[in-house]
This record gives sequence, C-alpha cells and structure tokens, in this order.
Amino acid sequence: MKHYDKLIFELSRPGRKGYQLPADSFGVDGIKSIPSDLLRQSDPELPEVSELDVVRHYTNLSSKNFGVDTGFYPLGSCTMKYNPKINEEIAALPEFSALHPLQDPETAQGALELYWNLQNALAQLAGFAEFTLNPFAGAHGELTGLMVMRSYHMARGDKKRTKVIVPDSAHGTNPASAMVSGLQVVEVKSRPNGSIDIEDLKPLLSDEIAGIMMTNPNTLGMFETEILEIAKLVHEAGGLLYYDGANFNPLLGKVRPGDMGFDIMHINLHKTFSTPHGGGGPGSGPVGVAAHLVDFLPNPHVKKDENGKFYVDFGKDALGSVSAFFGNFGVMMKAYAYILSLGKEGIRNVGPMATLNANYIKESLKDDYLLPIAGACKHEFVFDGLKDKSTGVTTLNVAKRLLDYGFHAPTIYFPLLFHESMMIEPTETESLETLDEFIDVMHKVAKEARETPDVVKDAPLSTIVRKLDETTAAKNPILNYKALKNA
Ligand SMILES: *Cc1c(COP(=O)(O)O)cnc(C)c1O
Repeated sequence: MKHYDKLIFELSRPGRKGYQLPADSFGVDGIKSIPSDLLRQSDPELPEVSELDVVRHYTNLSSKNFGVDTGFYPLGSCTMKYNPKINEEIAALPEFSALHPLQDPETAQGALELYWNLQNALAQLAGFAEFTLNPFAGAHGELTGLMVMRSYHMARGDKKRTKVIVPDSAHGTNPASAMVSGLQVVEVKSRPNGSIDIEDLKPLLSDEIAGIMMTNPNTLGMFETEILEIAKLVHEAGGLLYYDGANFNPLLGKVRPGDMGFDIMHINLHKTFSTPHGGGGPGSGPVGVAAHLVDFLPNPHVKKDENGKFYVDFGKDALGSVSAFFGNFGVMMKAYAYILSLGKEGIRNVGPMATLNANYIKESLKDDYLLPIAGACKHEFVFDGLKDKSTGVTTLNVAKRLLDYGFHAPTIYFPLLFHESMMIEPTETESLETLDEFIDVMHKVAKEARETPDVVKDAPLSTIVRKLDETTAAKNPILNYKALKNA
C-alpha cells in the first residue's frame, strides 16, 4: 500500500532539483531578452524531485501495471496482440520523427512514400480503391466513413437519406459515431448467434436509409454467411455498406470486405497491425472506400505523379479535413513495419492462427463455461459466465480472480446480448504453452467457484490494490499530481 499512501506518494521537497541550468542559459541578455508579457508571473507548480526520485517513481509504477509485455491479455474486441519492438525502433528513426508537417513535400518524399505505400497495402488487403490514413482512432474512422456516406448521398441530391442501420450487437462506438455524424440510428435485431436477421432488416430498407454499419465476423466472432445477400438488399435500396474493421485480424490476407460488397470501412492500425494501445492512445483509424467514393475522402491526400514524385493534394469534393495534417504518423510507421516484417506469406497466417487459438480455448473450456453459440468462431468468442452458477460466482469475480493468477481479464459484460458475457480473444501471437496455462487457470477458477466460492468473490487477493470502487474510479479519477494533492 505504501505507494498509494498520500503522504508517502508525495516525493517533492522544497528546493530539490534534478539538474541545474547554467546561469547564462538564456544568452547574453539573460532573462531580459524575453519580452516581459511572455514571462510567467509565478513559478509553475511542479514536483521538486531528484533524478533518482523520478527514475524510481516511474520504474516502480511501470511494474505495478499489467500489459501485453508482462502477461497474456485476452481482451475480446480489443486485439491486444504482441507489439514487435522493431516497430518502435523504426518509428523513432529521426529521419521520420524529426519531420515537420509543414515542411516542403520535396524534402519529405520518404514519409509521403511510406504513407502512399501503406494506404496501398491496406487497399490491397481490404479490396478497396483508396484509403485515407488521416483519422486518429477507430471511432474517428467511423465518423469519417459516415461523413463520406453522407457526402455521397448529398452530392447526388438524395437528401432524405438520414438514417443508418446498426445491429443491436454492434460495438458501442458505431451508434455513437452515427449520432455524431448527424445520422439517425435504426437498430436491427440479431439472431441468437449475433448474425443479422434478414427478415428484420428488409422492412427497414427504405429511401431514407443512408446505409448499414456491420462487423464481420460479428461481435460474437461468427462469420456473417449471408453477407452477399445483405449487401444486395442494401444496395438495391440505395444504401451503402460500412464495415467496422477495427479487428481485421481474422480476415487478413484471406477475405476482403470490398469483395463482400462493402463500400466503406475503417481499420484500427492499433489493433490489427499492432501498436501499444492500452490507456487510450495513440491510435490510427484509416478509412478505405470503393472507387465511387474516392473523391469524398478527407484532405489532405498523398498522390504520386508520373515521374514517381509524391505530392500533397487537396481534393475539391473532399469532405474537408478530419485531422491536423496527416494523422498519427508514428502509428502508420509501426503498421508499415509490421506488414513488411510479416510479408505476404506471414500476413496470410495471421487470420488462421488467431482463429485456431480462439477455437482451441473455446473448445477446451466449454465444459466449465457456458458457450451460448456453438460452432467454429473466428478470432474471438463469448462465454455467458460459468456453467455452474449455483454458488453465485459472477463473470466479474472470475475476471478479478484471473489477475491473481497473472492473467489480464477478458472483456466482460460486452456484448450485451448475454447477462454474464466474457469475451475472449487470444490473438495469433500467443504460444500453445501460454494458451494451455490460461486454460488450466480458467479450469482452476471454475473449480474454486464450486468449492471455495468466497475466494473467487473476494479476488483479487494478490494485486497491488484489491477490488476497486469502479464507479468512483470512473467518475472521480485522480489522474495527476495536482488532483492527488487536492484529493
Ligand atoms: C476498438 C473498436 C472500435 C473503436 O476503436 P477506437 O480506436 O477505440 O476508437 C470500433 N469498433 C470495434 C469493433 C472495436 O473493437
């Protein structure tokens, strides 16, 4: 508890310093050379600590966290795969990281080439005409994609189309993005296996429908086998199909959303193509479109002229800009390094391995955990809690108990289709030994739930902090030094 004690957490001592600035560090005129209206009137309120204090503070904090680099992290829908360290080295190359977004494109040809190559690689993998890499996250990609959808209908004078169909099993960002883009959400029911109910869809397809947002495989990890039929129906009704490709893992190099009939999609580079993304960033949510929508993609575009020179283009039909400059370039570099290091052959193995790993865990645990949807899944699947719920042990309890055994919890209580959802996604980067250890521990927890349920209900027992008051933690978070001081 030591480091969470408010008094001990306070490391600042008046006058203590990490290093000393030379007296003449502001030049000959010293501080007088700075215009007086730019000088601050009072000292900034910063902790006064030595270098050693800082090093120990952050090193200790880092060891209290859980990450993909410390253990298995089977967080369904969030694809916490291993992030190869070569990506970090590439992204830190000063030839790229020291570029300024306003410098002459003539002097940034390498960066523009990378952008162009990556957008082309994504276009090939997804079966689309063109991608923009500008959006900063998956949800931002969704918003951008839906703005493309709106622009398309508006450009055709089809102004009645203000509704977008979203399945009840969709990721929460889908309806949220639709609302933000100014479209009205119409919900379509899923069948018990999470797939779209075509009979429920048909009556919704009117001349007011701008399009439909879908995930395939759906939120339950099941492939939407009737996707061609759905695409045909939506297109016949004048709508467009949006594909949420945040978790594009299972299809990589195997199946292309463009071939399934989708018109627009986003990919989360920070899930499918690695990049550390716990804790909220940085991300990248490129948006791909079919040929008839290319002109609506946001500015700026990166183009290549007939001499092989790259240039920055501002399309006149573009929906405007959705980002400062080109987006999160560091994340693009990591994704590009990831794609090149896997190569054409390696990329084709991602989906099958992710799928194999998920099915292996599912089949190994279904005697102890309730599997509501049987059959082969893709990269993830959902249990509806323990099979034997007689001792009152919940999904939350199991998730907390896993922390005691050194595993991160799966995604819990999502999707909302079941009361005790436990969504597991092992990803392709885990070994058979790790999967077996996880399966072993999950069986152990199920046994504890039957025999010593209080141990599971009281978990976690061995972590730095015990069970948190999650409501207060979310509503009244203490996220910085100042807030802690005033708490
Ligand atoms: C993660 C995710 C998103 C949102 O991505 P962010 O980068 O967190 O905004 C959207 N859809 C699905 C299916 C996701 O898993």
